[in-house]
Amino acid sequence: MRNTYNKCQQASVESRGEGLDFAERYSRQVLFAPIGEAGQRKLAEARVAIVGCGATGSALASLLARAGVGYLRLIDRDYVEASNLQRQVLFDEVDAAESLPKAIAAARKIAAFNSGIAVEPHAADLTPDNVEDLLSDVAIVLDGTDNFETRYLINDFAVSRNLPWIYAAGVGSYAVTMNILPGETACLACIFPDSPRGIVETCDTAGILNSAVNLVASIAATEALKLAVGARDQLRRTLLSYDVWTNDFATVQANKPREGCRACGQRKFIHLAGEGRPHVSLCGRNSVQIHERERPIDFDEVSRRLSPHGAVRHNDFILRFWRDPYEITLFPDGRAIIKGTTETAIARSLYARYIGS
Ligand SMILES: [Zn+2]
Repeated sequence: MRNTYNKCQQASVESRGEGLDFAERYSRQVLFAPIGEAGQRKLAEARVAIVGCGATGSALASLLARAGVGYLRLIDRDYVEASNLQRQVLFDEVDAAESLPKAIAAARKIAAFNSGIAVEPHAADLTPDNVEDLLSDVAIVLDGTDNFETRYLINDFAVSRNLPWIYAAGVGSYAVTMNILPGETACLACIFPDSPRGIVETCDTAGILNSAVNLVASIAATEALKLAVGARDQLRRTLLSYDVWTNDFATVQANKPREGCRACGQRKFIHLAGEGRPHVSLCGRNSVQIHERERPIDFDEVSRRLSPHGAVRHNDFILRFWRDPYEITLFPDGRAIIKGTTETAIARSLYARYIGS
């Protein structure tokens, strides 16, 4: 089932140590003293998973693949669309025309510029059922997702396994990132005990500047390199945010766990158990229902936010949003019916993009 995009894996393994191509390819990075030859060899042995391969994820994958991280697992549930090309650096017009799964398209692009590393693409939604298979045999997990549901799942898994991971997010001109080193720093649930409720802007409603996501990906990729070469004393231990438009910059101390944290303190991994996950069911022909819980929705606000992106209409009881070929019907408690697909991953993705999770 696993498809490894590496035409010359055997040759590359041999050349990772002292081969001419290896030395030449990474020469400028080896010159950087904190990495050096020893660091470069560690990068070749490093195993990293990137969850989500949109703007942040494809920038992360591009940077780490070019830097010589020896093994990358790319996990993404979406397909390439024309609206992705403004910021998702691994995709082109042909990928969009063919609606290629992002993980597959990304792996193909990487194979064209670095065939000496192994890239394993998974066109899949990360869920409590497959998280063990997809994340248990890597040393670092990077966040390229667009939603809190998946981030909490990563956080629960990572904290439970003592696995470092790096949170990264961007919306509008704003970007935010944090290193999570279980047992040392705060975890995602220490900082955000619950996912934001009410007004939740997403890249599909508030837009996104490509520079904001590339900035946050550059910072997160560098932290991943430090982890991979063992430079732990250089890792940032704050939640960092930066707005590339206003130049507002902020850091919040995150150098120790919050007392009583549900995840890293009490070790209640509700997202790993699937409890924090809205139940999804097929409903009728060509529809998927998402049973989001305890999430009051302000129809006026949602309507205003969605109106630039498709037809939207609401009364006191339902809000309906049309974006070809889908129709989303939203209820005041956050429940939604997504018409136009029977694939739960696509329905979750649309919900995350337009309603927010
Ligand atoms: Zn915590």
